[in-house]
Amino acid sequence: MIDLHTHTTCSDGTDSPRALINAALSKGISVLGITDHDSTAGWDEASNSLRPGLSLVLGAEVSCLTQSGTSVHMLGLLFDREESELATMLEESRDSRIPRMRKMVGLLSAAGMEITMEDVYAATPPGATLGRPHLADALVARGILKSRDEAFQGLLNNNSEFYVEHMAPTPEEAIAKIRAAGGVAVIAHAYASMRGQLLKESDLELLVKAGLNGIEVDHRDHSGVERTNLRKIAGEFGLVVTGSSDYHGTGKMNSLGENTTDAQEWDRLEAIASERRVVRA
Ligand code: AMP
Ligand code: ZN
Ligand code: FE
Ligand code: FE
Repeated sequence: MIDLHTHTTCSDGTDSPRALINAALSKGISVLGITDHDSTAGWDEASNSLRPGLSLVLGAEVSCLTQSGTSVHMLGLLFDREESELATMLEESRDSRIPRMRKMVGLLSAAGMEITMEDVYAATPPGATLGRPHLADALVARGILKSRDEAFQGLLNNNSEFYVEHMAPTPEEAIAKIRAAGGVAVIAHAYASMRGQLLKESDLELLVKAGLNGIEVDHRDHSGVERTNLRKIAGEFGLVVTGSSDYHGTGKMNSLGENTTDAQEWDRLEAIASERRVVRA
């Protein structure tokens, strides 16, 4: 089983990289992608925890914003993290999440909710990319909400009055930097990202021109009809089709290996990277 998109305590997942590796081995996964939000902080621990039977694909899920302000997530896999332009892009995104969080906390407390940055930090694992799920956990710890899910259905939703954006590259910029660093770029949960606005083929065509390599088709946020449409679009543009769990430990319902990538598609994708960077025990 090939599962190319997962999160750890280096962003908003709840398994440490080591625990993720162990969970993947016990699920019978053979190729695992570690793709924390805007971060490569989990790569070393994950690599050092590998055991025979599991291959590791090092990556990151890059938060992007289109010119019109739509949030898009771009998976970068098999890139060289020493490439400074990509590293700087990820760092700027992580850094801007701190003032962004301060603004969200300010809005919530102005509306009468007893929540502080200290509460948020207490809910954030050391070194993790700071995100709304940590704010959700802090609101749960304060007894204001019951779960991350409840937070994302209301208070912390993208359409909420409490939502604040952070600095993010456009999808085209992210693709260019991932490719320049020798990696491959796959648009994550493509339909879900652009839902409401619907994924227009013309938008996707621009991303293909920018160097996009694949589309995540099989993902829990896509219906059967959406998957069928995306597969057709992927075929038209010659893009690799992937499927993955977007596992977050207990932070989300998604279970490891619930959606997977076909071996043939993975072979195509891996061959595009500038070097064979898959890590083996
Ligand atoms: P942020 O990057 O800080 O804007 O937070 C967005 C992250 O929240 C996404 O990467 C999701 O993984 C996570 N998220 C979205 N909806 C939910 C949910 N219902 N439960 C838990 N986590 C969620
Ligand atoms: Zn997440
Ligand atoms: Fe995502
Ligand atoms: Fe994700």
